[in-house]
Amino acid sequence: MSDHDPNCLFCKIISGQIPSRKVYEDDELFAFHDIHPWAPVHFLLVPKRHIPSMAQLTPQDVGLMGRMMVLAPQLAAEAGCNPYPDGGFRMVCNTGTEGGQEVHHLHVHVMGGARPWQRG
Ligand code: 5GP
Ligand code: ZN
Repeated sequence: MSDHDPNCLFCKIISGQIPSRKVYEDDELFAFHDIHPWAPVHFLLVPKRHIPSMAQLTPQDVGLMGRMMVLAPQLAAEAGCNPYPDGGFRMVCNTGTEGGQEVHHLHVHVMGGARPWQRG
């Protein structure tokens, strides 16, 4: 599997070929605000490496996915989600067509902020 898919929307966002509102970047992870937010805070956290979905994960990805899980609460707080337990956030990782996935580059939605939300 190549690290970058030239036809992938999120690979183009990560490389800066398509603009986005960046939330976070390090050597292996990238986060940016969703273009159609469901909630007052709604960003997408993605690996920089092109992994189509959770279905392609291997044991080698345990560290990467662990880092995403640990980073998400920190970024959620920085992006304006209210503190746990009255605040909090929702994480959603759609996988495959029946799982509701539209963009086939693994991503975790992180949504939060005061309700009501548009969806979710
Ligand atoms: P999925 O349905 O694959 O889980 O979610 C894809 C998400 O990507 C959707 O929430 C959609 O609004 C978001 N999205 C699609 N195209 C763009 C784009 O060009 N820029 C940004 N920032 N988000 C996008
Ligand atoms: Zn990609």
